[in-house]
Amino acid sequence: MLSEIDLFILDMDGTFYLDDSLLPGAVEFLETLKAKGKKAVFFTNNSSLGPSDYVEKLRKMGVDVSDDSVVTSGEVTAEYMLRKYGPSRIFLLGTPQLQRVFKEYGHLVVDEDPDFVVLGFDKTLTYEKLKKACILLRSGKKYIATHPDVNCPSKEGPIPDAGSIMAAIEASTGRRPDIIVGKPNPLVVEVISRKFNVSKEKMAMVGDRLYTDIRLGKNAGIVSILVLTGETTLEDLESSGIKPDFVFKSLKELCEAIQ
Ligand SMILES: [Mg+2]
Repeated sequence: MLSEIDLFILDMDGTFYLDDSLLPGAVEFLETLKAKGKKAVFFTNNSSLGPSDYVEKLRKMGVDVSDDSVVTSGEVTAEYMLRKYGPSRIFLLGTPQLQRVFKEYGHLVVDEDPDFVVLGFDKTLTYEKLKKACILLRSGKKYIATHPDVNCPSKEGPIPDAGSIMAAIEASTGRRPDIIVGKPNPLVVEVISRKFNVSKEKMAMVGDRLYTDIRLGKNAGIVSILVLTGETTLEDLESSGIKPDFVFKSLKELCEAIQ
């Protein structure tokens, strides 16, 4: 089954690297895929940065990947909105990097008269932006979030992510997003499948979290592969109802299995 896979969607933190250190087998895994004419696509729910920021981060760790090898939940949201609604007027709760992603997909990021409120991991959030988003949502604007994560891991411990901003908006307006993109929404797999022209039967999701990475694989109907280098322990796996198709200690063992 693994030999059939042409495109591996790779989670980053806890799967490929931990903070700023590469995990065992990371480089070998990419080299093996390349030698076999297969592809790795990095995917992250973190919409505070753009793909080029991650390419830069990987380069600093000595891993050279092309710009189109990294996909974020922001890009999936922008592509999905373009395909479903055409170029849109968006009031964005997001960083300048996220703003750039939406502009690249032909959307207009506006302060007045938007069609949508889009919520990302906004590290530049201000009270003014929060207030305006709540007023727009109370007036009935469509509401889309790039991903559901409540916290983002950091060296200082968990820090509030998009899901926490979402909770503040819900407390004020009673509204939850109409659509939440990002893992585990199968839209992620659909967009990547289209972008790289690979059918779902030939795709696998590799990650360290059961309720985002592995659930995405299950929701999208693609092969799911858990690595134990991040959040999930064997005990978590045993007590969870979410069962991956394959479990490996790290990318090193996955790499050996596809040799
Ligand atoms: Mg992870």
